[in-house]
Amino acid sequence: MSGDPSLYPCFLGPYAENDDLLESLVVGFLRDHVYWRRNLHPEDAPAIPTGANRRADYIDFESRLRRELHSLSAALKRSVPFHSPRYIGHMVSDLLLPGLTAQMLALPYNPNNVSADAAPVTIDLELKVGLQLAAMVGYVADPAREDCAFGHLTSGGTLANLQGLRLALSLKAFPVALRAAGVPLPSIPDDDWAAFNLLPGASTALFAQWCAWLASLPAAERTPWSRRVEAARIESLGIAGFFAKHAALSVPRVFAPATAHYSWSKGMKMLGLGRDQLQLIPGKAMRLDLDALEEALHGCLRDRQPVLMTVGVLGSTEFGTIDPIDGLADLRDRMHRDGLGMALHLDAAWGGYLATLFRDTEGGLRSADAVGAEFARFPSAAVHAAVGAMSRMDSITIDPHKLGYIPYGAGAFLCRDQRAIALLSEGADYVFDQAGGDDFFTRHRQLGRYIPEGSKPGANAAAVYVTHRVLPLDYSHFGRLPAQSIRNTEAFIAAAEAFVARIAPLAHALIPFAPDSNLVCLAMNPRGNHDLATMNRFMRQLHRALSADHDRPLQLGEHFGSITTLKRDTMGAADTARVLEALHLPPDALDDTDDERDRIVILRHTLMNPFLLDENGASVYIDGYFDYLEKRLAEAFR
Ligand SMILES: *Cc1c(COP(=O)(O)O)cnc(C)c1O
Repeated sequence: MSGDPSLYPCFLGPYAENDDLLESLVVGFLRDHVYWRRNLHPEDAPAIPTGANRRADYIDFESRLRRELHSLSAALKRSVPFHSPRYIGHMVSDLLLPGLTAQMLALPYNPNNVSADAAPVTIDLELKVGLQLAAMVGYVADPAREDCAFGHLTSGGTLANLQGLRLALSLKAFPVALRAAGVPLPSIPDDDWAAFNLLPGASTALFAQWCAWLASLPAAERTPWSRRVEAARIESLGIAGFFAKHAALSVPRVFAPATAHYSWSKGMKMLGLGRDQLQLIPGKAMRLDLDALEEALHGCLRDRQPVLMTVGVLGSTEFGTIDPIDGLADLRDRMHRDGLGMALHLDAAWGGYLATLFRDTEGGLRSADAVGAEFARFPSAAVHAAVGAMSRMDSITIDPHKLGYIPYGAGAFLCRDQRAIALLSEGADYVFDQAGGDDFFTRHRQLGRYIPEGSKPGANAAAVYVTHRVLPLDYSHFGRLPAQSIRNTEAFIAAAEAFVARIAPLAHALIPFAPDSNLVCLAMNPRGNHDLATMNRFMRQLHRALSADHDRPLQLGEHFGSITTLKRDTMGAADTARVLEALHLPPDALDDTDDERDRIVILRHTLMNPFLLDENGASVYIDGYFDYLEKRLAEAFR
């Protein structure tokens, strides 16, 4: 397990080792931008007179600008040092130079990816990013194909998840609207329940048929039909109006694992479905418990309770665990055969880029043996099967600003079949675009009509696109990054196991769950303590020492980490008992009545820094971190 020299040019580096490279790129392309302005119409006289910088108000402005920038720059020195190998806290690390420089290069052009009018260049880059990510997850990514996938960027995973909910609801309700409007297409099911339980693929096909049918009508009939269908859609009627009209249906439910990110709760509220319609399925060792889900789904079928979607998580935010995505897809197919149809969305905001490790340079899926050749334990058979099943999901969230090492403001939403996305369009003229035979890029350039946002930075799209071009999304290019992260993790686990043995006289410690990817948690209870609240207090104190504190010089922080909590509903009964026993806490220590006693506070480590290990596999940072923890433990119990 060692560092990878091929990553040396990829980042500015912990010590800003690549400062010359970054500076020459930034200065060079800034000059290039200047020439661009001057060459638009070189015959125009300068609008700002040559001597303007001698004016008193100019000088005053400049001095105020400098003063404020100095104070901003000084304040920013208290930022969290994400770039440092001493930082193993949240899901962020150094920025890839291709993304950073492409973003800085594009910024002064200020493209707005709301539409092609405002971003003639970067809109297409965004659509291409969608295709690059689609290929990475195994979707059809050939824009010449009608069923090609489609993806766009969002401000982050939160909005990509919202987009997943929005599209699923639109697809679910659309066949019901066609029925209500009396559209004479033979494939429209003949009762509301069946229409509301079509799978997203069938709804998409129906939508495409409707577009083609409408386009085939005489011009004078199109608008009345189009208006009739629009009026029957859930987007027009609202949730209350729609369900009031369809007595056999009720507001559908969404299932997600107990490890799900809180953006799912936000999304349910924003869409007006209500937080109560989100049902979290208790976990089994931090992963979705398919048996519990199946039982819940059968309950819905019995009660005629519609289900909008089930969310699977590929890389949970707190534990990096990966749900059984293949089993989830099988279960969905079984439920559909029994009459309950739902969408599947994969929340791979964190783990999405792990898929690069599983892609060969031709776009095929690598075998588990091939992937595992450079690791001690990764990937488990379950993880390999889960990644292989990504393409069976209807839509996927992936955050380039997490494991993509891209500056913030870059999440991504993918849907498996581009034809579905027009359902989200503002304005009903989408139908004619759909039937018009436009090519992929022409069809999707008016992005602002589908996305939750309006105006948005084209510079982000440039950053992600250039990164994916410099480092294609396969194991031998971009995959070097997650590979390093997995090697970091395996080295960290080995060091953690040695640490656990070494500190046995001071504390009971354990890695509560073998991680699926690159997050490792560590629980520690001071020896002799049997009170959960005392343990949690100790862990929180430790966390304060591991935080970048606003009031303290950054250099006083030796290492930077984060915490999370273990709860009964994410662990499941068997693992709850196992973890409590290992920590020498009583079996009833977790009790749901009290906020301090319903959770076990643990340390959480994200091991994505590319320079955590040196070429010989040693890590002064990992060793230093465990020495530091040992010191703090010893101090606490002197
Ligand atoms: C981070 C994360 C999100 C939210 O993404 P943002 O980019 O922070 O909006 C959603 N789901 C998972 C699994 C995440 O890790």
